[in-house]
Amino acid sequence: MRVVLLGPPGSGKGTHGQRLAKALGTPVISTGDILREAIAQQTRLGQAAQADVKSGRLVADETVLGLIETRLGLTDAKNGFILDGFPRTVAQADGLKKILGGQKIDRVVNLVVPADMLVQRLEARWTCGSCGAIYNMKTSPKPAKAGVCDRCGGELKQREDDRPEAVRTRLQVYENQTAPLVAYYQGEGTLRNVDASGLPEEVYAAIERAIGRVAA
Ligand code: AMP
Repeated sequence: MRVVLLGPPGSGKGTHGQRLAKALGTPVISTGDILREAIAQQTRLGQAAQADVKSGRLVADETVLGLIETRLGLTDAKNGFILDGFPRTVAQADGLKKILGGQKIDRVVNLVVPADMLVQRLEARWTCGSCGAIYNMKTSPKPAKAGVCDRCGGELKQREDDRPEAVRTRLQVYENQTAPLVAYYQGEGTLRNVDASGLPEEVYAAIERAIGRVAA
C-alpha cells in the first residue's frame, strides 16, 4: 500500500506512521528524519538544509524531490511505503507523481488537529536521539524514566525546531504551502480526513479505518 500522511506539525504523523509501518510491513519515509540525519552527519545535503530546518522553513523542492526519488528507488519501498512529511507543496506532489510513473498513491490520510493543541503538543514533544520514538511529557506516551527512551534506552531530546519561534514559522508555512494539498488530493478522491485530536489509540484506529484496515 502507498500511503501519504498529511497534517500540520504536531498532528501525529511521526507517531502513527511508525506504528502503521510495522502493521503494514512497509517502510515509513520521513523527509524530516532524513534531513535531521544528514544534518547530524554534516553531509553536503545536511549543511545545505541546516538553516532552513532549524528555523522551520521548507527546504527547496528540488532537494527534497531528489532525496525522495533516491529513497523510493530502494528495494524495501517497491511494494509500498508510508510518506511522513512529504509532499509539503503542490510542486512536490506533482514531482511525486512523476517519480511514481504509473503507480498511484492509494490513500492520503489528513490528520486534523486544532491549532492551539498543536502548539501544546510540540512544546511537550521529546524524541529519542537513537531510535526516533516520540514522547509527550504532558500527556501520553510519557517515558517511564525521565529523559530515557522506553524502547531502546537512548537519550530523549527536544527538537530545536519545536521551540516557540520555529513552531510559529512551521505552522504558518503549513497553512501557506502545505494546506493546499488537502484540496489537491480531495480532487483526486484519495483523501480521508481523520480527527487526530483524541488519544493516540483512538486516532490510530481511525487511521486504520481510513486506509481500509481493521484496527489490530
Ligand atoms: P518534520 O520532521 O516533517 O516536521 O520536518 C522538519 C523540517 O524538515 C521541516 O520544518 C522542514 O524544514 C524540513 N522538511 C521536512 N520535510 C520537508 C519537505 N517535504 N519539504 C521541505 N522541507 C521539509
